[in-house]
Amino acid sequence: MRLRAAAAVLGLAFTVTMAPVRADVAPLALAVSGPSEQGGWLRGQAPAGTSALMLDDKPVPLAPDGGFFVAFDRDAPPAAKLVAVLADGRRIETALAIAPRAWRIERIDTPKRPGGLPDAEFAQRRAGEVARIAAARARDSMAQGWRQDFLRPAPGRLSGLFGAQRIYRGEPGAYHSGMDIAGGAGTPFVAPADGTVVLAADAPFTLEGHLLILDHGMGLNSAFLHASSLAVKEGDTVRQGQVLGRIGMSGRATGPHLHWSVTWQGRRLDPLLFLPK
Ligand SMILES: [Zn+2]
Repeated sequence: MRLRAAAAVLGLAFTVTMAPVRADVAPLALAVSGPSEQGGWLRGQAPAGTSALMLDDKPVPLAPDGGFFVAFDRDAPPAAKLVAVLADGRRIETALAIAPRAWRIERIDTPKRPGGLPDAEFAQRRAGEVARIAAARARDSMAQGWRQDFLRPAPGRLSGLFGAQRIYRGEPGAYHSGMDIAGGAGTPFVAPADGTVVLAADAPFTLEGHLLILDHGMGLNSAFLHASSLAVKEGDTVRQGQVLGRIGMSGRATGPHLHWSVTWQGRRLDPLLFLPK
Protein backbone atom coordinates (compact mmCIF):
# COMPACT_ATOMS: atom_id res chain seq x y z
CA MET A 1 0.00 0.00 0.00
CA ARG A 2 2.92 2.33 0.66
CA LEU A 3 3.98 2.05 -3.00
CA ARG A 4 0.45 2.74 -4.18
CA ALA A 5 0.13 5.80 -1.96
CA ALA A 6 3.46 7.17 -3.17
CA ALA A 7 2.51 6.54 -6.77
CA ALA A 8 -0.80 8.30 -6.22
CA VAL A 9 0.91 11.38 -4.84
CA LEU A 10 3.22 11.51 -7.84
CA GLY A 11 0.30 10.95 -10.21
CA LEU A 12 1.93 7.82 -11.64
CA ALA A 13 -1.23 6.20 -12.89
CA PHE A 14 0.59 3.36 -14.68
CA THR A 15 2.28 2.22 -11.45
CA VAL A 16 -1.10 1.95 -9.78
CA THR A 17 -2.52 0.04 -12.71
CA MET A 18 0.36 -2.41 -12.55
CA ALA A 19 0.13 -2.95 -8.79
CA PRO A 20 -0.75 -6.56 -7.89
CA VAL A 21 -4.45 -7.09 -7.26
CA ARG A 22 -5.19 -7.61 -3.59
CA ALA A 23 -8.34 -9.21 -2.35
CA ASP A 24 -8.73 -6.70 0.48
CA VAL A 25 -8.69 -3.69 -1.87
CA ALA A 26 -12.09 -3.31 -3.49
CA PRO A 27 -11.94 -2.15 -7.12
CA LEU A 28 -13.07 1.43 -7.54
CA ALA A 29 -16.41 1.68 -9.24
CA LEU A 30 -19.14 4.16 -10.03
CA ALA A 31 -22.31 3.30 -8.17
CA VAL A 32 -25.29 4.08 -10.43
CA SER A 33 -28.99 3.29 -10.28
CA GLY A 34 -32.04 4.22 -12.33
CA PRO A 35 -33.84 3.29 -15.56
CA SER A 36 -31.01 2.85 -18.10
CA GLU A 37 -33.08 3.13 -21.27
CA GLN A 38 -33.88 5.68 -23.98
CA GLY A 39 -35.42 8.71 -22.25
CA GLY A 40 -34.16 7.39 -18.90
CA TRP A 41 -31.54 8.43 -16.39
CA LEU A 42 -29.08 7.30 -13.74
CA ARG A 43 -28.20 8.79 -10.41
CA GLY A 44 -24.85 7.89 -8.97
CA GLN A 45 -22.06 8.36 -6.55
CA ALA A 46 -18.46 8.86 -7.63
CA PRO A 47 -15.65 7.61 -5.37
CA ALA A 48 -13.93 10.05 -3.03
CA GLY A 49 -11.21 11.94 -4.87
CA THR A 50 -13.08 12.14 -8.20
CA SER A 51 -12.14 15.43 -9.82
CA ALA A 52 -14.11 15.17 -13.08
CA LEU A 53 -16.81 13.06 -14.63
CA MET A 54 -17.59 12.59 -18.32
CA LEU A 55 -20.42 10.96 -20.24
CA ASP A 56 -19.21 10.07 -23.75
CA ASP A 57 -16.36 12.57 -23.34
CA LYS A 58 -18.68 15.44 -22.35
CA PRO A 59 -18.25 16.89 -18.83
CA VAL A 60 -21.01 16.04 -16.34
CA PRO A 61 -21.68 18.19 -13.26
CA LEU A 62 -20.39 16.67 -10.05
CA ALA A 63 -21.86 17.66 -6.65
CA PRO A 64 -19.42 18.46 -3.82
CA ASP A 65 -20.31 15.12 -2.17
CA GLY A 66 -19.58 13.18 -5.38
CA GLY A 67 -23.23 12.73 -6.33
CA PHE A 68 -24.14 13.02 -9.99
CA PHE A 69 -26.97 12.65 -12.49
CA VAL A 70 -26.79 11.60 -16.14
CA ALA A 71 -29.59 10.95 -18.63
CA PHE A 72 -30.26 9.55 -22.09
CA ASP A 73 -32.11 11.20 -24.93
CA ARG A 74 -35.17 9.63 -26.56
CA ASP A 75 -32.92 8.66 -29.50
CA ALA A 76 -29.82 7.72 -27.49
CA PRO A 77 -27.60 4.98 -28.97
CA PRO A 78 -27.49 1.59 -27.13
CA ALA A 79 -24.21 2.20 -25.34
CA ALA A 80 -22.58 5.03 -23.42
CA LYS A 81 -19.37 5.41 -21.48
CA LEU A 82 -19.10 7.07 -18.11
CA VAL A 83 -15.60 8.04 -17.01
CA ALA A 84 -14.52 9.34 -13.61
CA VAL A 85 -11.11 10.97 -13.45
CA LEU A 86 -9.54 10.85 -10.00
CA ALA A 87 -7.35 13.60 -8.59
CA ASP A 88 -4.35 11.25 -8.90
CA GLY A 89 -4.99 10.78 -12.61
CA ARG A 90 -6.61 7.34 -12.51
CA ARG A 91 -9.64 6.82 -14.73
CA ILE A 92 -12.59 4.65 -13.81
CA GLU A 93 -14.56 3.65 -16.89
CA THR A 94 -18.07 2.28 -16.69
CA ALA A 95 -19.82 0.95 -19.79
CA LEU A 96 -23.55 1.72 -19.76
CA ALA A 97 -26.12 -0.23 -21.74
CA ILE A 98 -29.13 1.87 -22.77
CA ALA A 99 -32.18 -0.21 -23.63
CA PRO A 100 -33.91 0.83 -26.88
CA ARG A 101 -37.66 1.49 -26.95
CA ALA A 102 -40.43 1.32 -29.53
CA TRP A 103 -42.23 4.63 -30.02
CA ARG A 104 -45.88 5.03 -30.96
CA ILE A 105 -47.44 7.08 -33.77
CA GLU A 106 -50.12 9.55 -32.64
CA ARG A 107 -52.49 11.38 -34.97
CA ILE A 108 -53.59 14.80 -33.67
CA ASP A 109 -56.63 16.63 -35.01
CA THR A 110 -55.19 20.13 -34.76
CA PRO A 111 -53.07 22.20 -37.18
CA LYS A 112 -49.29 21.95 -36.74
CA ARG A 113 -49.11 25.71 -36.16
CA PRO A 114 -51.74 27.71 -34.27
CA GLY A 115 -54.29 29.27 -36.59
CA GLY A 116 -55.05 32.99 -36.70
CA LEU A 117 -51.46 34.24 -36.75
CA PRO A 118 -49.78 35.21 -40.06
CA ASP A 119 -46.51 33.35 -40.71
CA ALA A 120 -44.29 36.41 -40.25
CA GLU A 121 -45.92 37.39 -36.96
CA PHE A 122 -45.74 33.83 -35.65
CA ALA A 123 -42.03 33.58 -36.60
CA GLN A 124 -41.27 36.86 -34.87
CA ARG A 125 -43.13 36.01 -31.66
CA ARG A 126 -41.73 32.49 -31.65
CA ALA A 127 -38.10 33.66 -31.86
CA GLY A 128 -38.47 35.66 -28.65
CA GLU A 129 -40.18 32.76 -26.88
CA VAL A 130 -37.54 30.25 -27.95
CA ALA A 131 -34.82 32.60 -26.70
CA ARG A 132 -36.51 32.88 -23.29
CA ILE A 133 -36.83 29.11 -23.04
CA ALA A 134 -33.15 28.58 -23.97
CA ALA A 135 -32.03 31.20 -21.42
CA ALA A 136 -34.18 29.60 -18.70
CA ARG A 137 -32.83 26.11 -19.43
CA ALA A 138 -29.25 27.41 -19.32
CA ARG A 139 -29.70 28.68 -15.75
CA ASP A 140 -28.40 26.40 -13.05
CA SER A 141 -29.67 27.13 -9.58
CA MET A 142 -28.41 25.19 -6.60
CA ALA A 143 -31.70 23.28 -6.43
CA GLN A 144 -31.38 19.73 -5.06
CA GLY A 145 -34.52 18.23 -6.61
CA TRP A 146 -32.36 16.00 -8.84
CA ARG A 147 -31.61 13.91 -5.75
CA GLN A 148 -35.28 13.21 -4.99
CA ASP A 149 -37.75 10.54 -6.03
CA PHE A 150 -40.27 12.54 -8.05
CA LEU A 151 -44.00 12.94 -7.37
CA ARG A 152 -46.72 12.88 -10.03
CA PRO A 153 -47.51 16.58 -10.56
CA ALA A 154 -51.27 16.07 -10.98
CA PRO A 155 -53.92 13.37 -10.78
CA GLY A 156 -55.73 12.25 -13.93
CA ARG A 157 -55.62 9.99 -16.95
CA LEU A 158 -52.42 9.95 -19.02
CA SER A 159 -53.67 11.23 -22.37
CA GLY A 160 -50.31 11.39 -24.16
CA LEU A 161 -47.04 9.59 -23.66
CA PHE A 162 -43.49 10.80 -24.14
CA GLY A 163 -41.72 10.00 -27.39
CA ALA A 164 -44.73 9.33 -29.64
CA GLN A 165 -44.26 10.51 -33.22
CA ARG A 166 -47.01 13.05 -33.90
CA ILE A 167 -48.88 13.74 -37.09
CA TYR A 168 -50.95 16.95 -37.17
CA ARG A 169 -53.83 16.58 -39.66
CA GLY A 170 -51.58 14.53 -41.93
CA GLU A 171 -48.53 16.76 -41.46
CA PRO A 172 -45.67 15.05 -39.55
CA GLY A 173 -44.38 17.02 -36.59
CA ALA A 174 -41.84 16.45 -33.87
CA TYR A 175 -42.20 13.59 -31.42
CA HIS A 176 -44.14 14.29 -28.24
CA SER A 177 -41.66 15.87 -25.84
CA GLY A 178 -43.51 15.18 -22.60
CA MET A 179 -46.32 13.41 -20.82
CA ASP A 180 -49.91 14.68 -20.92
CA ILE A 181 -52.12 14.44 -17.85
CA ALA A 182 -55.82 15.08 -18.43
CA GLY A 183 -56.37 16.37 -14.92
CA GLY A 184 -59.34 18.58 -15.72
CA ALA A 185 -59.48 22.38 -16.11
CA GLY A 186 -58.61 24.22 -12.92
CA THR A 187 -56.99 21.24 -11.19
CA PRO A 188 -53.88 22.39 -9.28
CA PHE A 189 -50.55 20.89 -10.31
CA VAL A 190 -47.56 20.61 -7.99
CA ALA A 191 -43.78 20.51 -8.13
CA PRO A 192 -42.62 16.91 -8.72
CA ALA A 193 -39.36 17.74 -6.91
CA ASP A 194 -37.64 20.72 -5.29
CA GLY A 195 -36.64 23.44 -7.70
CA THR A 196 -36.21 27.05 -8.69
CA VAL A 197 -38.65 28.76 -11.05
CA VAL A 198 -36.53 29.85 -14.04
CA LEU A 199 -39.41 30.81 -16.34
CA ALA A 200 -43.02 31.76 -15.57
CA ALA A 201 -44.89 33.10 -18.62
CA ASP A 202 -47.49 35.59 -17.36
CA ALA A 203 -48.43 36.33 -20.98
CA PRO A 204 -49.13 33.03 -22.79
CA PHE A 205 -46.59 31.72 -25.32
CA THR A 206 -47.95 30.82 -28.79
CA LEU A 207 -47.51 27.05 -28.32
CA GLU A 208 -46.87 26.46 -24.59
CA GLY A 209 -49.37 28.98 -23.23
CA HIS A 210 -48.61 29.91 -19.61
CA LEU A 211 -45.32 28.05 -19.52
CA LEU A 212 -43.52 27.26 -16.28
CA ILE A 213 -39.96 25.89 -16.12
CA LEU A 214 -38.48 24.55 -12.90
CA ASP A 215 -34.76 23.93 -12.46
CA HIS A 216 -34.03 20.86 -10.31
CA GLY A 217 -30.23 21.42 -10.36
CA MET A 218 -27.36 19.66 -12.19
CA GLY A 219 -28.89 20.57 -15.56
CA LEU A 220 -32.19 18.77 -14.90
CA ASN A 221 -35.43 20.68 -15.35
CA SER A 222 -39.18 20.26 -15.71
CA ALA A 223 -41.50 22.29 -17.95
CA PHE A 224 -45.27 22.55 -17.51
CA LEU A 225 -47.42 23.75 -20.41
CA HIS A 226 -50.94 25.05 -21.07
CA ALA A 227 -51.69 26.23 -17.49
CA SER A 228 -54.73 28.45 -16.99
CA SER A 229 -52.84 30.30 -14.23
CA LEU A 230 -49.53 30.17 -12.41
CA ALA A 231 -49.12 30.39 -8.62
CA VAL A 232 -45.37 31.11 -8.60
CA LYS A 233 -43.04 33.63 -10.22
CA GLU A 234 -39.52 33.62 -11.65
CA GLY A 235 -36.85 33.26 -8.99
CA ASP A 236 -39.13 31.47 -6.51
CA THR A 237 -37.71 28.45 -4.71
CA VAL A 238 -40.33 25.71 -4.55
CA ARG A 239 -40.60 22.54 -2.52
CA GLN A 240 -41.68 19.14 -3.76
CA GLY A 241 -45.49 19.01 -3.65
CA GLN A 242 -45.96 22.80 -3.67
CA VAL A 243 -48.77 24.08 -5.92
CA LEU A 244 -47.36 25.70 -9.09
CA GLY A 245 -50.54 26.58 -10.95
CA ARG A 246 -53.75 25.24 -12.44
CA ILE A 247 -54.33 23.01 -15.44
CA GLY A 248 -55.73 24.74 -18.54
CA MET A 249 -55.52 24.81 -22.31
CA SER A 250 -53.54 27.98 -23.04
CA GLY A 251 -51.30 27.83 -26.14
CA ARG A 252 -51.72 24.96 -28.61
CA ALA A 253 -53.92 22.41 -26.89
CA THR A 254 -56.98 20.44 -27.96
CA GLY A 255 -58.38 20.38 -24.44
CA PRO A 256 -57.37 21.11 -20.85
CA HIS A 257 -54.35 19.05 -19.83
CA LEU A 258 -50.97 19.36 -18.17
CA HIS A 259 -48.04 18.70 -20.49
CA TRP A 260 -45.01 17.86 -18.34
CA SER A 261 -41.62 17.56 -19.97
CA VAL A 262 -38.22 16.86 -18.44
CA THR A 263 -34.84 17.70 -19.97
CA TRP A 264 -31.24 17.25 -18.93
CA GLN A 265 -28.57 19.23 -20.75
CA GLY A 266 -30.63 19.45 -23.92
CA ARG A 267 -31.68 15.81 -23.86
CA ARG A 268 -35.38 15.05 -23.72
CA LEU A 269 -36.36 12.53 -21.06
CA ASP A 270 -39.46 10.48 -20.33
CA PRO A 271 -41.23 11.93 -17.23
CA LEU A 272 -42.86 8.54 -16.60
CA LEU A 273 -39.42 7.12 -15.79
CA PHE A 274 -39.13 9.58 -12.87
CA LEU A 275 -42.26 8.28 -11.17
CA PRO A 276 -42.70 5.20 -8.99
CA LYS A 277 -43.85 2.19 -11.04
ZN1 LIG B 1 -48.18 17.18 -24.54
